[in-house]
Amino acid sequence: FCKQNGRHNLLFYLPNMNKHYEKVITLEGDLRQALTQNELYLHYQPKVDVRTGYISGMEALVRWKHPEQGLISPAEFIPVAEETGLINQLDEWVLKEACRQNQEWIEQGYAPERMAVNVSANEIQRHDFTENVKQILVESRMDPQYLEIEVTENSVMRNTEQCLQTMQDLKSIGVSLSIDDFGTGYSSLSYLRQFPIHYLKIDRAFIKGVLTDPSDAEMVKAMIQLAEAFKLEVVAEGIEDQEVLDFLKENECAYYQGYHFSKPLPPHEMEKLLVKKQTY
Ligand code: C2E
Ligand code: CA
Ligand code: CA
Ligand code: CA
Repeated sequence: FCKQNGRHNLLFYLPNMNKHYEKVITLEGDLRQALTQNELYLHYQPKVDVRTGYISGMEALVRWKHPEQGLISPAEFIPVAEETGLINQLDEWVLKEACRQNQEWIEQGYAPERMAVNVSANEIQRHDFTENVKQILVESRMDPQYLEIEVTENSVMRNTEQCLQTMQDLKSIGVSLSIDDFGTGYSSLSYLRQFPIHYLKIDRAFIKGVLTDPSDAEMVKAMIQLAEAFKLEVVAEGIEDQEVLDFLKENECAYYQGYHFSKPLPPHEMEKLLVKKQTY
């Protein structure tokens, strides 16, 4: 038997149907609709430069306000988008919107150095990815130097040859690259050395343990040293308190992101920080 679930998709309930797929199918239909009905929007989280205390850049993070369920976390719908192929459209929408917003801030004279956008494994492995990025940059009129692409450590290790090519192409057009969630994946040092990347973002899982778990502290120190050896900048994510910040400063980490400075903010609130040249 089947049942209408309120929006436009039919759900078929088979006795053994996996709850997971049931949820994926419902979310897929809703997400498809969200993409065309302006239910998605972006929040921006500042990245702070420790040397100056200024906001040196920011990260765009997608938000979804579902008409019936309210806010749904990207941790929940990004995997669904990846499984169903909708991620292609979603990531493209995010890129366009982030570039459009940043160009507006550039023209008003208060854009920081970089706007970072998260890109899924599926996207970075597409042959036409760099072409799409180029097109979006042209449409938004934003200088490529302002754009930073974040890819997770795991996603670049899935198809390293294709990723290496995409990364080189992105670099050649002037776009910066970050390896996100660093430390949680399984990248080999030889690849890391070949990748044309600018930043390593140390995953929050390590950062939050630096004061309580000696092995986390050692891992973080080792990652900072590794980055230095490879001439990469380090971004620590998920800083929630002063003590953790002090630890990172002592160990010469260059950039920080976290609730201690600011949560991801809606555009008008981010703009306020930029206008008053907020320092931390
Ligand atoms: P991520 O790229 O690792 O982003 C960092 C996440 O940590 C964000 O969660 C951010 O809000 C949160 N965060 C930042 N500072 C702190 C802190 O001090 N404490 C804690 N507890 N959390 C902090 P969010 O926005 O829920 O995003 C979750 C994940 O969803 C992201 O992880 C990213 O993998 C994915 N995502 C978000 N937006 C996009 C997007 O536009 N495209 C793609 N492909 N993925 C996205
Ligand atoms: Ca990220
Ligand atoms: Ca991350
Ligand atoms: Ca993460």
